[in-house]
Amino acid sequence: MSEKVARSEELFRHAVELMPGGVNSPVRAFRAVGLTPRFIARGEGAYLYDVDGNRYLDYVLSWGPLIAGHAHPHVVRAVREVLERGTSFGAPTEEEVLLAEEIVRRVPSVEMVRMVNSGTEATMSAVRLARAATGRRRIVKFVGCYHGHADPFLVQAGSGVATLSLPDSPGVPGETAGLTLTAPFNDLAAVEELFRRFGEEIAAVIVEPVAGNMGVVPPVPGFLEGLRRLTREAGALLIFDEVMTGFRVHAASAQGLYGVEPDLTTMGKVIGGGLPVGAYGGRRELLELVAPAGPVYQAGTLSGNPLAMAAGRATLELLDAEAYAYLDRLSARLAEAYREVFARHGVPICVQRVGSMLTPFLAECPVRNFEDARRQDLALFRHLFREMLAEGIYLPASAFEAHFLSLAHTEDDVERTREALERALPRAL
Ligand code: PLP
Repeated sequence: MSEKVARSEELFRHAVELMPGGVNSPVRAFRAVGLTPRFIARGEGAYLYDVDGNRYLDYVLSWGPLIAGHAHPHVVRAVREVLERGTSFGAPTEEEVLLAEEIVRRVPSVEMVRMVNSGTEATMSAVRLARAATGRRRIVKFVGCYHGHADPFLVQAGSGVATLSLPDSPGVPGETAGLTLTAPFNDLAAVEELFRRFGEEIAAVIVEPVAGNMGVVPPVPGFLEGLRRLTREAGALLIFDEVMTGFRVHAASAQGLYGVEPDLTTMGKVIGGGLPVGAYGGRRELLELVAPAGPVYQAGTLSGNPLAMAAGRATLELLDAEAYAYLDRLSARLAEAYREVFARHGVPICVQRVGSMLTPFLAECPVRNFEDARRQDLALFRHLFREMLAEGIYLPASAFEAHFLSLAHTEDDVERTREALERALPRAL
């Protein structure tokens, strides 16, 4: 297959004049793979159609939200029905209550929830709440975990040892970044050390219970349980950032899968069904500290937007036990396809998967933290990405991201992907 790209190229030339890097979120610019990003005209089920008329099987799914696939009729119907009554009121609506009710019903640790507009807002607000609830300032995050772009989270990956960190981005004051302590993911001893040194000052540990932003890295047995114990002993809060894993990996999110209850949970992606939503929730006594029930200020003009609430609820309605079983089966097949094709060509690969999110790390197994993930063959990744795109398979344009599957993907789609890999891998080597 050879793609046409003329219209995408033309639009991108125009876009770079108007927006930084031509995009509204960096990874979309395809810099890591050295290509012109494809401008998307529409999506349908598991497929994307670009402005040049190319069709791609989509394993990005808007970076996770579209667990039902593009333009799922049930979701479209729900949004349209609400849309016709108006787009935003800045006043309470029934849609907010209904989505909140669904979330609280499915996730036992979440007794109350506050809707916001993005994952970044959710994590930022959860940390504010944790600091207010504990009267402490420091937080702990893990190297390679992403919690959105608020200042406290843009902290450089340490070099394998727990360390006081420096800002990752100009514009983040050192004073702010200095309050964020980091440890390698899956390294409980490093967290213990942080608590020994700073225990009295730590407001919260925030973690992706399954890391997704260094590629998919599951927690090793005992890691989440250990974080639960350490935070409890020190009077700190445990925040699970389930923006990616929420309702993606299990009906009750990652905390349901691993049986560990955090104090606060942040969500996004799936609960917005492709519209801008985030949420943070947890125990009642904590959420009641949030304004106007309590003194911790947090607000939003469009928060709880009725279209977004409707899209999220319609998406959750599709996610029954059968849906999760289907997603699990399908993604197991995709993982197997990667392993099989790479084994045949004698190329190392480490496919890590939790439910319908997986990453084929171009490295030896296991990948337990960001340092391991960085051992990947990034040149091979770049070549393989290009060859797969030319085969009509749209993969995440970064080796440190997850592939996502949706209810719209089929076994035939996975088989097509395996065949594409068979052709693409030898060309990429
Ligand atoms: N937390 C996690 C785990 C994420 O994966 C992301 C986004 O990818 C965020 C937070 C930030 O969410 P948003 O991009 O909606 O601000």
